[in-house]
Amino acid sequence: MTFDRVVRGGMLVTPEGVRPGTLGIRDGRIAAVAPPEAELDREVVSGRIWDATGLHVLPGAIDIHCHIRSPAYPERGTVASETSACAAGGITTVFEMPITDPCCNSPERVAVRRDHFAEHARVDFALYAAPADLTLPAFEALAAAGVVALKIFTIPAPVGREHEFEGLAWPDAADQLRALELAARVGLPVVVHAEHPEILARASSEAAGLDSGSAATHEAARPALAEATAVAQLLTLNRTAHARLHVAHVTSRATLDVLRRYAGSSDFSAETCPQYLRHTVDDVERVGVCGKVNPPIRTAADRDALWEALADGTLAHVTTDHTSFSPEEKARHEGDFLGAPPGHSGTEVLLPTLLDGVAEGKLTMPQVAERASSAAARRFGLDRRGAIAEGMRADLVMVDLAGSTAPTESNLRTAARRVARLAHGQRYRGRVAGTLLAGVPVFDGTEVVATPGVGRFVRPRLEGTAS
Ligand SMILES: [Zn+2]
Repeated sequence: MTFDRVVRGGMLVTPEGVRPGTLGIRDGRIAAVAPPEAELDREVVSGRIWDATGLHVLPGAIDIHCHIRSPAYPERGTVASETSACAAGGITTVFEMPITDPCCNSPERVAVRRDHFAEHARVDFALYAAPADLTLPAFEALAAAGVVALKIFTIPAPVGREHEFEGLAWPDAADQLRALELAARVGLPVVVHAEHPEILARASSEAAGLDSGSAATHEAARPALAEATAVAQLLTLNRTAHARLHVAHVTSRATLDVLRRYAGSSDFSAETCPQYLRHTVDDVERVGVCGKVNPPIRTAADRDALWEALADGTLAHVTTDHTSFSPEEKARHEGDFLGAPPGHSGTEVLLPTLLDGVAEGKLTMPQVAERASSAAARRFGLDRRGAIAEGMRADLVMVDLAGSTAPTESNLRTAARRVARLAHGQRYRGRVAGTLLAGVPVFDGTEVVATPGVGRFVRPRLEGTAS
């Protein structure tokens, strides 16, 4: 057997555990997983050997929650810039959310975005859609268009951004139930931004009388109670709807308690993000509105509970919720937490955050592979991704546990580098030392070497539909 590339000398993080080994890659797939003494490099095209000595080799991360927004808002970043950041962050497949102008809520808009991303992407991508029309034919058409899942919000669209949220915002519980039922019929997962609209409205009106210059005011305006209440309602609805339900960006201990109480009651999963695992509201207070995200970053007790939930599997996924706003858009609202646009970059700190957790003894390397990659491939029906095994796509990330990551305004690749202020000055133990997409290097440890357009559109395999 001959190989197009060989990865040798590394510690392989496989479903069976961590062990030294050599990988032979052919036609974009892992063709051989061999012991370290196997001399696969005798049978490789000359020079195409990746020396992973001293490194761990993981399946490429699959980020199921990202907001690039392109082709709208190029000042916030482009597909080329943000997928460059993905490659440098060890993310080989990225799921793009539908919030943009116009909102991605029809097969025609899915096709426009698919073609635009295919032209510029440096890693593979999948697309979400908003279910603008709660009818079976509309859901069937979105499934046929190849979307990976549907996204909904349980709160109204933000004032002034209604066009970006057209078909996304379903604050009425009966509409949420209908969306879940229809998604179950066509086999698509539903990913939900869960905050309870009435609890949020009361908290927001109370917070309007507080100091908007404080991050604590933003946290008070969107309390953990709003998240936990919305999640409890959704999980109750899903006992009837039988959808594949996924709860986005869990931030609080209160919501973890709800998730545990509903365990086994329906087919649901949940995620958190690096900003909630790394930071507290005090950090947001320190960096200003650049650190504002929705839902808010909360207390040290919440942060610690999220790590425990990641370790015990209550949270099966870690995603970035990468959201880029321009420095001007953030600066316009400096000192105004209630008015500032929410979002922070996460693409280049996803793996470093988890690797730092490994250094702290909070997670194991197989858990990192599972939470950042394998679980996403299974949950969203991506065939042959998310594991190091023969026959899988050779989407791989090499990480150096002895190295470190220290993001700055200048060394981040995202267009949001100047506003990624939570990450500035942080030092994470662990470093992404190289990324392969279908066996081809897209990040060599120093430079992004992928050309735009190398990333492919990923369609999910839809599971059997409910009756
Ligand atoms: Zn998001």
